[in-house]
Amino acid sequence: MSTKYTLPPLPYAYDALEPHLDAQTMQLHHDKHHQGYVDGANKAQQELAAARDKGDFSLVDYWEKKLAFHTSGHALHSVFWTNLAPPGKVGQPSRELAQGMELAFGGLDKFKAQLTAAAVSVEGSGWGLLAYEPLGKSLVILQCENHQKQAIWATTPLLVIDVWEHAYYLRYQNRRLDYVKAWWNVVNWDDVSRRFAAALATVR
Ligand code: MN
Repeated sequence: MSTKYTLPPLPYAYDALEPHLDAQTMQLHHDKHHQGYVDGANKAQQELAAARDKGDFSLVDYWEKKLAFHTSGHALHSVFWTNLAPPGKVGQPSRELAQGMELAFGGLDKFKAQLTAAAVSVEGSGWGLLAYEPLGKSLVILQCENHQKQAIWATTPLLVIDVWEHAYYLRYQNRRLDYVKAWWNVVNWDDVSRRFAAALATVR
């Protein structure tokens, strides 16, 4: 099987985000769930290569769907881990990011209120995202279903929250809002600020 995609290591220990995100959830989420998306993305690539070799595209719609789902899952989880940091090491938004949020949302508090509401109200499994949208040169908040639906093409994810049940159910059960509130305590603002600066640099 192709190993085009590989699982990135967690940048901290499984229990580093306690008490907000528990160690058992982090271990299962990273080692099992994220690994599953990596494997799924590689499998879809392999199956599409085999289809091209055989000239048989009878299952192309199935594998294109799998490719988008698993590769997007791999991409978002890769951002998700580095978006987080142990309590006390979370930094703060850069001046540039704070200005961007002021322009787009009217400030940090309104941004947090909208992203919280968007994440809590995802139907079923999905994500809330802060992303940079280069056409309007603006920050946007997206509500994503599964890993790939309701995206805006061309945006760059900057801060993402996983609201699949596997991200919170062991500790928070059905209380998704409690999980989202706890998650805000471990958002690594230095990482979000770095991602924003890098996204701006690509369009300047
Ligand atoms: Mn997940």
